[in-house]
Amino acid sequence: MWDGWLQEIKSGKIKSMAKGQPPSKKVFDFGFEKVSAAEKTEKVTHVFERVATRYDLMNDVMSLGLHRLWKNWFVESLPLRHEGVYLDVAGGTGDIAKAISERLTHFRFHAHITVSDINPAMIAVGQKRYPHLSWVCSNAEDLPLEDHSVDVYTIAFGLRNVTHREKAISEAYRVLRPGGKFACLEFSQVIPPLQKLYDFYSFHLIPRMGEWIAQDKEAYQYLSESIRTFLTREELLSLMRKVGFERAGYETSTGGIVALHTGYKL
Ligand code: SAM
Repeated sequence: MWDGWLQEIKSGKIKSMAKGQPPSKKVFDFGFEKVSAAEKTEKVTHVFERVATRYDLMNDVMSLGLHRLWKNWFVESLPLRHEGVYLDVAGGTGDIAKAISERLTHFRFHAHITVSDINPAMIAVGQKRYPHLSWVCSNAEDLPLEDHSVDVYTIAFGLRNVTHREKAISEAYRVLRPGGKFACLEFSQVIPPLQKLYDFYSFHLIPRMGEWIAQDKEAYQYLSESIRTFLTREELLSLMRKVGFERAGYETSTGGIVALHTGYKL
């Protein structure tokens, strides 16, 4: 009997019991709250379901229009590929995909652009607005796409909401073709002189705006909190390198409020 136990301890099967620790239960951040993986996915889905119809208006008000400049900066950084396949993950109501489509059209390039999002409510708003784009309801952690089928993978203000971020970044790597580009736009850490003002804006004004405009203070409280608990720029960069991205790096804008991470599958 003891031999069996010893074997199991050696193989790692009952490691935590051997050390007298309870089996570990992984927790995830939902804003400042700690929840299970299933709860995080459910709560995030519920947040975006509630705000879907007011989402774009709130973006304009909350960011004082800056989100449009950040998104233009993001889209202008992307390669132009004639007949390319573009995938915008956590694409919400389709802003990024629409901007990609306009830019390609401007240069008379033809391409296939797909928006993917986990939330049918966000997709419904976007689909009505941009019916010419392709829409797919899927989790960034498990994309219904073939390996090596995408030229440009984008995710804007989405990764922070995803439960298993490393899994999502590996999925990006899997679906990209060799030579394909990964680009992630996210909120980041502000420079110290902006910190106090940014905190006041995030934790006092944004939830109130959410209450007035979207009748949902909690959803916008989550937004501010989720920015604070998201990965640092270096942590995100390490994850990208870990899953295999090369020439990975980042740039920041607006005093560190946002960061643009990019990498290639070579
Ligand atoms: N990319 C859009 C933009 O920049 O306006 C939308 C960003 S919005 C802040 C975050 C989006 O991520 C929501 O539409 C939400 O439904 C989506 N999302 C959250 N978790 C996701 C997941 N696991 N997989 C795919 N999309 C997800």
